[in-house]
Amino acid sequence: MKESNAVYTDVLIIGGGTAGLSTAIRLADLTKNTTKSCRILLVDKGSAIGSHILSGAIVNPSAFFELLPDTKPEEIPFNAKVNDDATLLLGKKSAVKLPVHVPYMGNKGFYTASLGNLCRFLAEKAEEKGVEIYPGFSVNELLYDKNGKLNGAKTIDTGVDHHGKPMENFQEGTSIKAKLIVFAEGTRGTLAKQLIQKFDLQKGKNPQLYSLACKELWNVPEGNIKPGEVYHTMGYPLNMQQFGGGFIYGLNDNKVALGLVVGLDYADPTFNTHTAFQIWKKHPAVAKILKGGSLLEYGAKTLPEGGYYSLPKLYTDGALIVGDSAGFVAMPALKGVHLSMYSGMMAAETAAEAVAHGDFSENTLRRYEEKIKASPIYKEMYPVRNFRQAMSDGIILGGMQFGTQLISGGAGFGGRLSACPDSEETKTLKAVKGKTFKEKYDDAFEPDKVLTFDKVTDVYYSGVSHDEAQVPHLRINNPESFRRKNIEEYAAPCQYYCSAEVYELHTDKNGNKELRIHFENCLHCKTCDIKEPVDGITWALPYGGNGPEYKNM
Ligand code: SF4
Repeated sequence: MKESNAVYTDVLIIGGGTAGLSTAIRLADLTKNTTKSCRILLVDKGSAIGSHILSGAIVNPSAFFELLPDTKPEEIPFNAKVNDDATLLLGKKSAVKLPVHVPYMGNKGFYTASLGNLCRFLAEKAEEKGVEIYPGFSVNELLYDKNGKLNGAKTIDTGVDHHGKPMENFQEGTSIKAKLIVFAEGTRGTLAKQLIQKFDLQKGKNPQLYSLACKELWNVPEGNIKPGEVYHTMGYPLNMQQFGGGFIYGLNDNKVALGLVVGLDYADPTFNTHTAFQIWKKHPAVAKILKGGSLLEYGAKTLPEGGYYSLPKLYTDGALIVGDSAGFVAMPALKGVHLSMYSGMMAAETAAEAVAHGDFSENTLRRYEEKIKASPIYKEMYPVRNFRQAMSDGIILGGMQFGTQLISGGAGFGGRLSACPDSEETKTLKAVKGKTFKEKYDDAFEPDKVLTFDKVTDVYYSGVSHDEAQVPHLRINNPESFRRKNIEEYAAPCQYYCSAEVYELHTDKNGNKELRIHFENCLHCKTCDIKEPVDGITWALPYGGNGPEYKNM
C-alpha cells in the first residue's frame, strides 16, 4: 500500500557528481521509448549541482564522448587541453624535472577542467532527457521493508534545535520510495557506508585507503603559466614515508588550479595537509607561478585510492554503488572522473535491464559487477591493483615494489597486498620518532596572506555556510575514550588534519582540555570520518544546501 506522504520513483540516485549524472543520462536514454516507463529522481546535498564538486582536475574525455555521442566535443565545457606535462622532484629549494613520466602519469590528449562546471553541464543534459534533479536535499536515512530489504531513503528532518528537539518550523523529512537506489554520494558516502556495513559488502576485500587534497584556484598575471601547461610534484615538503604530491594546472584566462594531495596513511598525529600545502606554495618552483596573482577559491576533498581490491561488492537487493562511493580511481594515474562515469553508465545499463524485467534483486543487479569486469575500468585498475598498498611502505620500498608490479602485470612478489585502514596508521604522539610535523613546520608557519593563508582565511574562499539551528553533523563516537586517548595520547589529531578550522582544542587555566567543534566551517571532505583513531568521529549529513559553495572547482 502506498504511503500518502511519500514520493515514489523507479530509480533514486543519491548524489549529483559525474557518476550519478552519468547513471541518470544513460538510464534516461536506455528507457526512452520502451514499454515500461521509468521515473528517475536525483537528489544532491549541495545548494545547486556542482556546489559540492571539487577535483584537480585533468580529465580523460573518453567517457564524456561515450555518454553524449550526439554532443559536439567543443560543447563540453572542458578547460585547456594538456600540451605541456612535466613531473618535478622537489627538494627544499631545488626542482628537478624528471626526464620521463612516472608510469601511467602521462596526460597527453586530456583536458584540464572544473569538475563542478562539467557536472552543471551534465545536469542540463540529464534534465533535457527527463531526469528530475533536486539539489539542496540531504538524504540521511535508508528505509527498509519488514523483510529488511532496502526500499527507499528519507530526507533529513529540518527545524530542530542543537539537540534534535523540534522547533516551531519543524518539518519532517520526505520518504522517497524507490525500486532501486544508486549510491553516488562521492568519497566516503554516508549512506553508502551504512549500506556497506549493513550488508557486509566489504567482506573479503581490502579496506579502502584515502588521501586528502587541499586545492586553491588563482588568478595570475599573463605569462606566469600557459593554458594546458601542467606539473605534478613529488617530494618536499612530504617525507619519504608519505605518499602524495602537488599539482599545478594552467587554465584559460590566466587561471591556475593547484593543490597538494596526501595519503591519509601517515603516522604523525600532528601532520597538517593544509599547512603542508601552504609551505609547498612557498617553494620557488611554485611561488614563481603564483607571483603577482590572487586567490579566488579554496576547497578540499578526499579521494578513495585503495584500488581494485578495495572495491566493495557493488550491489545488493535494490542497490548499486557507483563512482567514488565505490572507489573507482586508478592510481598512480590519479584519475577517477572517467572511471566514475563508466561505472555510472554500467549501473544504468543494469538498471535498465532491471526495469525491463521488473526485477531489482541481486539476481539482476549482479550483472553490474560482471560489466565492470569486462570494461575499461578493469583494464585500468587491475594492472595497478597493488600499487597504493605497496606505497604504504614508503617511497623507496614502495617504489621498488611498484617496479616489480610493472614487470609482473601488477602482481609484484607477494600477490595481493593489503594495508590497515588509515585511522589505524595514526600513531600516538609518543610513538613518533624525531620531530613531529608540528615542531618542524607548523609552529613556525606564519601565513603572509599574499602567497600563503591560514585555514580560516582559506575557508572564507570556499563560500561555506551551515544553518546554526540543527544537530551538529560531526559526532565524537565515544566522548570518554576521546578525552582519554585521542586528546591525551594522540594530541587531538583532528585539530591538524581537518582541512577547515573546525576542531579547536581549548585548554582552560587549570589545564583542562576540551574539544570545540565549529561545524559551520566544515567543507565535507570527510577526513575526520576516515582518519580519527580509536573510536573515531562520525560525519553525518547536515541540512541540504549547507556546506561549501564551490564555483569553479
Ligand atoms: Fe573535513 Fe571533517 Fe574538517 Fe569537515 S570537519 S572539513 S569533513 S575534516
